[in-house]
Amino acid sequence: MNVEPEATSTVDAPARPARPAAAAPRTPRTRKPRGEGQWALGYREPLNPNEQSKKDDNPLNVRARIENIYAHGGFASIDPGDLRGRFRWYGLYTQRKPGIDGGKTATLEPHELDDEYFMLRVRIDGGALTSEQLRVIGQISVDFARGTADITDRQNVQLHWIRVEDVPEIWRRLEAVGLDTTEACGDCPRVVLGSPVAGIAADEIIDPTPAIREIRDRFVGDPQYANLPRKFKTAITGHPLQDVVPEINDIAFVGVEHPEHGPGFDVWVGGGLSTNPMLAQRLGAWVPREEVAEVWAGVCGVFRDYGYRRLRTRARIKFLVADWGPEKFREVLENEYLHRPMLDGPAPATPERPGDHVGVNEQKDGNLFVGLAAKAGRVDGQRLLALADLAEAHGSYRLRTTPMQKILVLDVAPDQVDSLVAGAEALDLSARPDAWRRSVMACTGIEFCKLAIVETKAQAARLVDELESRLGAMESPITVHLNGCPNSCARIQTADIGLKGQLVPGPAGDPVEGFQVHLGGGLGMDAGFGRKLRGHKVTAAELPDYVERLAKSFTAERQEGER
Ligand code: SF4
Repeated sequence: MNVEPEATSTVDAPARPARPAAAAPRTPRTRKPRGEGQWALGYREPLNPNEQSKKDDNPLNVRARIENIYAHGGFASIDPGDLRGRFRWYGLYTQRKPGIDGGKTATLEPHELDDEYFMLRVRIDGGALTSEQLRVIGQISVDFARGTADITDRQNVQLHWIRVEDVPEIWRRLEAVGLDTTEACGDCPRVVLGSPVAGIAADEIIDPTPAIREIRDRFVGDPQYANLPRKFKTAITGHPLQDVVPEINDIAFVGVEHPEHGPGFDVWVGGGLSTNPMLAQRLGAWVPREEVAEVWAGVCGVFRDYGYRRLRTRARIKFLVADWGPEKFREVLENEYLHRPMLDGPAPATPERPGDHVGVNEQKDGNLFVGLAAKAGRVDGQRLLALADLAEAHGSYRLRTTPMQKILVLDVAPDQVDSLVAGAEALDLSARPDAWRRSVMACTGIEFCKLAIVETKAQAARLVDELESRLGAMESPITVHLNGCPNSCARIQTADIGLKGQLVPGPAGDPVEGFQVHLGGGLGMDAGFGRKLRGHKVTAAELPDYVERLAKSFTAERQEGER
């Protein structure tokens, strides 16, 4: 979930009509251009309330106040600037008050939507978890989050119903096993997406694990990188299936073999979704693994210093990259941040689709890994506890979350795999690669998100059940992504069927929950954004019928090999 609104409008105010000429000539005034709020060009003044809040106090300082003041004084003691701003730097958002319907989302003030409970995002860089860590998250869910737990499409786990009083104890438990929530949200370096099969896949080009760890250890929580213009999303993979959606991250390192220097990474910048979706662009540079963290810090520095801070709607790095182009971006990176040129490198081969690793797959050491799909990433604390036990009972102590809301169990011996798959099915975690649940994703939606207009998670689960019983396996999988509002936390623009939550006319003409449909988006070979067809809307109640019709006509009419 990303409950922070992305750009909602990038349309500048219309030009005003020219004034009539003044009667007497005026002395021309020299006006300082307004600028875009780029620090490197001297525009350091706070330019909007978010920038003011970050200037007033380093957001990382809020942790001490949570531990020393708010956890004792309770919700009412929280400073509003911390509550709706700096709490994010520790993965905390207020969740939506139950019972407020989607029609009121845009009309109520933020505080009227705030519940006294929080969503807490646990950061899992590279999705790498031990069974012990999974057990700790599961127990926290049971003890403090009413059993809630969602695997997000950024490899995090999100918990709900968290009270501020419990946050220090939750941190203590997480940190005891090497986990935390630092910079899980906010204008800072978010969790590093990493290939879920890093270090184990037989067909991996390069293992990105050391690079992910170095970025995490050196830069997360570093005040130098804690005040960026907006969020900064990183993805690193060395797998040929490009399993971390690199096209839509602010920075991505994608494994590639250099003809002279061997395996390393191609650097992409400026990808992102929401209302101005853009695909990341290659810098044409090849980076060896040991230099990834340095280049990452350079790109993050360019964004911090040159990023547009005046308008939140233009504050993502994609706007800077779009204006500069990749050549200028690389030049500034090399000249001002790295102080050396980077090596040129080849483009990696494009996979047909990004890999999701669902099913039983071979590791390079002869063991197997098993990719499991929950319905729309929704699990719960008890199931996480049971999964940790199940993995250990089958000799596995490592798991990975994926950017497709899935979870992998690693290191399973071949003679253990059938039993593990059966045990997972009993937990409603499917390893069947033909299941519709593999290709249906959903954001948090109205259950907890203050920006939501419609419900998504339960809707997605219903859709999976209906499609699996009506259609069974599909020869060519169709991805279906559901968002609860115009933001794009579930990446609707890159799905075959993208569903943007909104109120639509119901059978009696009254507004009911439904979706604007986007068709034909994709990543990999099909990288591009789905088209919004005018008037193409569907009510939530009609959704299974609609997807069934579309899937059937695609199957009936598709050409040989058509995706
Ligand atoms: Fe993101 Fe969904 Fe919330 Fe919209 S409703 S902000 S897409 S989580």
